[in-house]
Amino acid sequence: MILSIESSCDDSSIAITETTTKKILYHKKISQEAEHSCYGGVVPELASRLHAVALPKILEETKPWFDKLKAVAVTNQPGLGVTLLEGIAMAKTVAVLQNIPLIPVHHLKGHIYSLFIEKETRFPLLVLLISGGHTQVIRVKNFEHMEILATSMDDSVGESFDKCAKMMGLGYPGGPLIEALALKGDENRFNLPVPLRNSPLIAFSLSGLKNAVRLTVEKLGGAEKMTEQDKANLSASFQKAVKLHLLQKSKKIFAKEPIRDFAIVGGASANQYLRGAYENLCREFGKTMHVAPLQYCSDNAAMIGRYAIDAYERKQFIDPNKIDIVSTKKQQAGMLL
Ligand code: ATP
Ligand code: FE
Repeated sequence: MILSIESSCDDSSIAITETTTKKILYHKKISQEAEHSCYGGVVPELASRLHAVALPKILEETKPWFDKLKAVAVTNQPGLGVTLLEGIAMAKTVAVLQNIPLIPVHHLKGHIYSLFIEKETRFPLLVLLISGGHTQVIRVKNFEHMEILATSMDDSVGESFDKCAKMMGLGYPGGPLIEALALKGDENRFNLPVPLRNSPLIAFSLSGLKNAVRLTVEKLGGAEKMTEQDKANLSASFQKAVKLHLLQKSKKIFAKEPIRDFAIVGGASANQYLRGAYENLCREFGKTMHVAPLQYCSDNAAMIGRYAIDAYERKQFIDPNKIDIVSTKKQQAGMLL
């Protein structure tokens, strides 16, 4: 059995996974959304302190499996340094005390492996990762070979939902709030710019659209002056522009990529409106679409555990004295995967 720990942002989560059956025997997640909501985003130091309280509480519940542990896995990149370190400190301690190997896990690879928690592995895959910190199209040949084909030049999809929700005074996280409000709105009410519409670049950009939302909020007199219907209309118009942007760039990639299996992963892949749009696109291009079960779209330790099973088979262990978070600079240099 493998014990896996996830603490890269504002979710404290631990799972126990069976290596042979790949079944999850235990999984728990304590989210900090309520605590960060009033700030409209995650406050790193607060997140770190909350992990320090939540992780040991969850770990205690995994005691019945402790003697059967073969390895411990932990997210060590990318994420918030101060929160990653909480999980890493716990994982190192378990590894040393139980005398078992330690497996470092790349959080985004974990998101990709969320697809295989309840389904068999199927490679090669073309993956759209839309999360709180990233927007990428990745060609996943297999466990070892993952290549980024397109990435955001500024904000990520999840972040743009969060920031626009904050501007409208909706709370955090913005994704589910905007998606729900949009159902009651008119998506053609505001004519927001579709990012990079006339650019040949195969890349994403969300900051200009975010700015257009900001200007619209200002024009309407600020969040306080906006009616519920204004907010619903703006949410729907924003979501539509995100969809058109993602689809336009994805179409260019689909036209070139022969891989038949396509998947969307990451927190924003829970969005039914975006899922529906991609289902249509896949039909048009003859691709089969895959998504993870809803509860595994946002951060969780089950996906870290599922990735760790494959890493365990390949003995991808790290010395507990050498594990560290990976610097942002390296991540920015395109070495994410
Ligand atoms: P990363 O994985 O890039 O390090 P993260 O771990 O913070 O970032 P996730 O947990 O994968 O991100 O996803 C959280 C993000 O998903 C938030 O920005 C949230 O607003 C967004 N999100 C969640 N549900 C939805 C939804 N229904 N529609 C759009 N966005 C959503
Ligand atoms: Fe994540």
